[in-house]
Amino acid sequence: MDFLKQMWQLQQVEVEMVRLRKEWDHIKELAARESRSDLDAIRSGIEKAREQWQSIKEEYDAAVQETQSIGNKLVQHEEQLYQQGGQSKELLSLQQKISELEKRKAYLEEKQLGHINRLDELEQRIANETLRLQRLEEQSRSRSARLAERQKEIKSEYGKWKEQREELRGEIPGYMLDIYNDLVAQKKRPMALLKNANCGACGIEQSVLNVNALKKGNQYTRCSSCGRILVPQQQVADLLKEESDE
Ligand SMILES: [Zn+2]
Repeated sequence: MDFLKQMWQLQQVEVEMVRLRKEWDHIKELAARESRSDLDAIRSGIEKAREQWQSIKEEYDAAVQETQSIGNKLVQHEEQLYQQGGQSKELLSLQQKISELEKRKAYLEEKQLGHINRLDELEQRIANETLRLQRLEEQSRSRSARLAERQKEIKSEYGKWKEQREELRGEIPGYMLDIYNDLVAQKKRPMALLKNANCGACGIEQSVLNVNALKKGNQYTRCSSCGRILVPQQQVADLLKEESDE
């Protein structure tokens, strides 16, 4: 009954294939998470900071321009003041204008200082965030590359297992495969080791008749409780050894 050993192998192969399919799905999920942009929040933060910088820069430029034109006006007015000399109505109004312009100029200069601070702050933030984004993008790219690499490995491993499964299925008698497939359809691992006189899957003790039939080696036996196909431990000892060595 060599086919019991082959069936045990078949089960191991299929367990491995299920494991690889699960890993495949998990990797697909992880890869989707990488392509879904968790980094968009950082990108839009940088974009917003750039827009803010632009609008503050415009305000700053306007303030600089106004300050310059006030400066020019002040020079003119001071010349007029110098030329007029003495006391007059015009003189008073000129002095008043000068004092108003100076107030406005001081206000604008104060504002420019505020603008410069805000612009510095924004530039720093943009630089930091851009650096952070680049680092995260790089990490994401390398994670994606690793996932793609593993996907390739899984594909090739899976292909090998699939070949082995086909080979084993070809060697196992059809009526045994029917029982095997039926148990798989019941969501059971179809094969169980016979440990002493007990089913290795459900633990139920088998009748002496059952055990002897299997030990004589000319009959297959199913567990009297769970229906699994029993394999004497000795028959798969080499396979089990290989597994525990891995
Ligand atoms: Zn059982």
